[in-house]
Amino acid sequence: MTLMEEAKSGRVPREIDLVAEREGIEPGKLARLVAAGRVVVPRNVRREGLEPIGVGEMLTTKVNVNVGTSKSLDSPEIEVEKALAAVAAGADAVMDLSTGGDLDLVRRKILDALKIPVGSVPIYNAAVRNDLSSQGLFNALEKHARDGVDFVTVHVGVNKNSLERLRQDPRVMGVVSRGGSLTMKYISDTGEENPYYAEYDYLLEIAREYDLTLSLGDGLRPGCIEDASDRAKYMEFIMLGELVRRARQEGVQAMVEGPGHVPADEIQTSVKAMKHLTDGAPLYLLGPLVTDVAPGYDHITAAMGGVIAGMAGADFLCATTPSEHLDLPTKDDVIEGTYVTRVAAHAADLTRPGVRERARAWDLQMAKARADLNWTGQFEAAINPARAKQIRHRRGVETDTCTMCSELCAIRLSKEAMEREAARK
Ligand code: SF4
Repeated sequence: MTLMEEAKSGRVPREIDLVAEREGIEPGKLARLVAAGRVVVPRNVRREGLEPIGVGEMLTTKVNVNVGTSKSLDSPEIEVEKALAAVAAGADAVMDLSTGGDLDLVRRKILDALKIPVGSVPIYNAAVRNDLSSQGLFNALEKHARDGVDFVTVHVGVNKNSLERLRQDPRVMGVVSRGGSLTMKYISDTGEENPYYAEYDYLLEIAREYDLTLSLGDGLRPGCIEDASDRAKYMEFIMLGELVRRARQEGVQAMVEGPGHVPADEIQTSVKAMKHLTDGAPLYLLGPLVTDVAPGYDHITAAMGGVIAGMAGADFLCATTPSEHLDLPTKDDVIEGTYVTRVAAHAADLTRPGVRERARAWDLQMAKARADLNWTGQFEAAINPARAKQIRHRRGVETDTCTMCSELCAIRLSKEAMEREAARK
């Protein structure tokens, strides 16, 4: 039985129990959310020692961090180092998006090094091996599943139907998803349908065998503000909704990926439409980036969109780094992107049903420490204590206030005034 089938049968598998304990939710309730497909707990049956996470309704917003080689920079060791740095910075999951060097070696090293869920994109393997064929795509999927990957992105929504919408409604930037463009190339080179879509039942069979969670990819995500929310994108949402339903019928867990570059005022509509069309499937977003003009700051443009999306119901944010659109991220970029995305996820959690009380308690802890000018307490409550400490002590000035207002510290002045007032009465 898959984890979803166990949950449907009324049992509470060990992984669901562990997630429920960590999230402070009643295990039976979490099992019902998994059975309904509104929460996924990615875990491959072959993965040993996994520390499972839950993604979806009533749970905290999760953060995924991408690592992976390219043809220009293909060191497996550096990518493992980045993955470990992401975990240390609080990533909930890591995806290996390698496209250079020995892809199998990088994936296996990352799987060996981490205890959190690991995702991948099998079509890259097929493309790098010059085997972009139906057999090549399914071989790659099965190989990733056999290695123990917990979730895979499959661009099943890029098919002849959605590409026709793209032809009728051309974009400034076309298709910017790597997997989406490779699928498009396959369709245009062969004249055949996307194999993952045409043989979706076979794909589900493989997923069932390894209890692989599907991440139905947003192959047609908009790559710029001008292309946001067009017909091709909505056609893809509709198809992904149908494919989520078929996955659930087969006991396969599925989440859905979303855009991309989206202006702030369109994010809520986009998220609500995706949730509606997929019957509440967990939603995994890259960004959304709220502007195109901030290379070097795209971890911030993505975090802005991530908060709005999280408030509207997005469940899983993919970290964007300062290198987005510019370069393969360094380890420092990965760390920065992870923390900034965690800030966005937490800001969304402050408004999220089921978790906002816990999220607000964390902010209250910080507020109380600030009110007491308790610096140790502030560092303990900080999302990145080391960064807060380093900035606080960098000038070597040690006072009970900070150097921002020094003697005119508003917190101290108002506290003293309130104490005098209280003594007068
Ligand atoms: S000095 Fe100013 S910024 Fe610093 S703790 Fe006091 S009120 Fe806050």
